[in-house]
Amino acid sequence: MFESSLKQLGDALRAKKISSVELTQLYLDKISKLNPELNAFITVNPDISLAQARDADARMAAGKGEALTGIPIAQKDIFCSKGWLTTCGSKMLHNFVSPYDAHVIQQFNNAGAINIGKTNMDEFAMGSSNETSHYGTVKNPWNTENVPGGSSGGTAAAVAARLCAAATGTDTGGSIRQPAALCGISGLKPTYGVCSRFGMIAFASSLDQAGPMGRSAEDLALLLNTMAGFDERDSTSLQRDKEDYTRDLDKPLNGLRIGLPKEFFAEGLSNDVAQAVEAAIGEYKKLGATVVDISLPNSKLSVPVYYVLAPAEASSNLSRFDGVRYGYRASEYDDLADMYEKSRAQGFGEEVKRRIMIGTYVLSHGYYDAYYLQAQKIRRLIAQDFTEAYKHCDIIMGPTAPSTAFKFGEKGDDPVQMYLSDIYTIAVNLAGLPGMSIPCGFGDNDMPVGLQIIGNYFDEARMLNAAHQYQLATDWHNRAPQGL
Ligand code: GLN
Repeated sequence: MFESSLKQLGDALRAKKISSVELTQLYLDKISKLNPELNAFITVNPDISLAQARDADARMAAGKGEALTGIPIAQKDIFCSKGWLTTCGSKMLHNFVSPYDAHVIQQFNNAGAINIGKTNMDEFAMGSSNETSHYGTVKNPWNTENVPGGSSGGTAAAVAARLCAAATGTDTGGSIRQPAALCGISGLKPTYGVCSRFGMIAFASSLDQAGPMGRSAEDLALLLNTMAGFDERDSTSLQRDKEDYTRDLDKPLNGLRIGLPKEFFAEGLSNDVAQAVEAAIGEYKKLGATVVDISLPNSKLSVPVYYVLAPAEASSNLSRFDGVRYGYRASEYDDLADMYEKSRAQGFGEEVKRRIMIGTYVLSHGYYDAYYLQAQKIRRLIAQDFTEAYKHCDIIMGPTAPSTAFKFGEKGDDPVQMYLSDIYTIAVNLAGLPGMSIPCGFGDNDMPVGLQIIGNYFDEARMLNAAHQYQLATDWHNRAPQGL
């Protein structure tokens, strides 16, 4: 069962070969066994999960089962989920039980999916290794001495260790794709605006996007069918016709023009990652694709631009955590201002405070033009590079991350080294484009390597098609960590 695809699980449930209650219990048992070591989940709530499973069984008995009905899916702890502790990886929200559901959670509930638990993450989604979580680090199931990536590291580890059938993540600068790469799973960040941000705790609102993480492109397509959709409560949610993201999965790749940005294969990329990615491109050529050399000249500025814009937005978004209405409040203080200060000083971790300070600085009167405005202009240039590139190719490919999973503590002392983990992913968020990562081999340390696939706006179906055809021809996505 743990190796079945979502389609196989859905078929087995609707054919009553297994009930949702049985399947949910299997996953809960596996979580009890492995989570103490992996720390992939912050919260599991068997009572709620099993109640949902009983409802799903009743729904299927009435012949109303849909693609995801009865299937246990883990939710990143950034999504507000009614009745569930929702911490966003922070002490600031250590006691916050959400009174409402995020739009993405609602969509899963409407589909009859089971929430199997809330996954661990870097605090407020700031990080690339899960080392900033208030709830402790997540271990990479392939080698527990290594990080799982971040910020959706709990989700990536949970999927890789088969603690859920699939899961959600969010991606502001790479947080779906980079942990997917480091844990050997598939993950997709949709075009900005495809999934509603309502109820998804905000980090950098012009970049944040929810997306599916799972074991195959086919699974991601089914998940995205459920997650995507217009929601009037998010002013940047796009009003578009509902799409079936599975529609192009089986198309042959003949004539697909793959753009390879020369900047993605330059200095800074580990040899083992380069080799695996080049082998994957070779496989695409066998499948009928052609390769075009392209350039994204401004992409080298994406990390500095992101580390002006994302902290600026975060400093504003995080001002709501004041200890007054919900969340952490210092137990001793002198007056109201002191209560704000102490609650924020004690409730936020180091990385979050660093970002708030950077953000406040770049938005301040004397520096706004020099930093924030300048970064906005370069953001536009970065987006234009992609528009230019797509005149010559249909899809862009390259590495997801510059190296495979590294050891705990290895980049802890140097934030800039950590920030470079997202060197190939951040430009995609700045441009608002869709991007995904699929497993394409292993590095020198036997850890998984991810291939990044970047589409043009709203080209998710084409990306999923390219990923699925590769997964029909190879078996990297079927490899699972041993010895758990
Ligand atoms: N690692 C990046 C950061 O720390 C991206 C995080 C994300 O995508 N949420 O900001």
